[in-house]
Amino acid sequence: IELANKGVQGLQPYQPGKPVEELERELGISNIVKLASNENPLGPSPKALAAIEKVLPELTRYPDGAGFRLRSAIAEQLGVAANQVTLGNGSNDVLELIARAYLTGHSASLYSQHAFAVYPIVTQAIGAQHIVVPAKNWGHDLEAMAAAITEKTRVIFIANPNNPTGTWLTETEVRAFLDQVPERIIVVLDEAYTEYVSEAEFPNGITLLNDYPNLVVTRTFSKAYGLAGLRVGYSVSNPQVADILNRIRQPFNVNMMAQEAAIAALADTDYLRKGVELNQQGMAYLESEFKRLGLSYIPSVGNFVCVDVGRPAGPVDQALLHEGVIVRPVGAYQMPNHLRISIGTMAENQRFIEALEKVLG
Ligand code: PMP
Repeated sequence: IELANKGVQGLQPYQPGKPVEELERELGISNIVKLASNENPLGPSPKALAAIEKVLPELTRYPDGAGFRLRSAIAEQLGVAANQVTLGNGSNDVLELIARAYLTGHSASLYSQHAFAVYPIVTQAIGAQHIVVPAKNWGHDLEAMAAAITEKTRVIFIANPNNPTGTWLTETEVRAFLDQVPERIIVVLDEAYTEYVSEAEFPNGITLLNDYPNLVVTRTFSKAYGLAGLRVGYSVSNPQVADILNRIRQPFNVNMMAQEAAIAALADTDYLRKGVELNQQGMAYLESEFKRLGLSYIPSVGNFVCVDVGRPAGPVDQALLHEGVIVRPVGAYQMPNHLRISIGTMAENQRFIEALEKVLG
């Protein structure tokens, strides 16, 4: 059957890790540690769990298709209007909405080398072209990205901090870039990991929205809010862009449990703080252990860090798996010697370091 959209032909399915239970059965190991998907090691907020339990009897109904209460809660917390918020089935869903709304087969998206894997997927799914700009010191080279803009460019994706590298851009850098981008181009500032960042120079994308009508900030409940399995994320933009995204959004794209849990998680500031503190401790531990082992790593402000294992990372990854530790090889991101490790609990981080030390000899 001939594909009308040739872009799809060039796509490889996103490769998620195997379920932990399946791996445990396959390898005959019982206590596998998964540090592979930048999830929150604390488990979900108890308040989110209680909210889910409360809504269970309602599951025979459709969820609120407009996500009124969740959008209001997000808007209130961020100091924006509810008509600026677009909900998604994970922020991936919002990234796809943006691609569907603003890209065509005759246009192009632009993003950096080592950028998040979903940007090429949503671009090629539309049949649009993509311009990939070489990274600088593993991070975004914004000057080169501005210079790479063409007549065809319609969407620019920037993750701050970036996954998988953990690199970040200052407010000054982001503003200088946005100043150079023509207003006809949508700039997506993907802030999936923003809650983890404490650097003073790190921008809050929401505060840039008034100055840049073409800016779309995306965020998620999958990371610091600990709800990856529920799939809920959102964008904040000017109301005209939100209106466009909401026109093409599937009416019930965020399910009832996700909406209720997200509202509860948003209010659970204790949970958020604990997770961020745990992450800081874990990151400090891993950094010091990498130094002790003489391994270089890419300094990261996210809840993950890429370490250079000094040899092709694929076999190291497999050997770690046999020690019961799942991490993420990032060869597909043109980082053949790096492994990305999500920060876990202290016990999980220690398990990983012990396994790594053993595997590397
Ligand atoms: N953006 C970035 C940079 C990410 O790393 C991720 C998660 N891997 C997402 C967006 C999407 O997260 P979700 O769809 O779970 O909201």
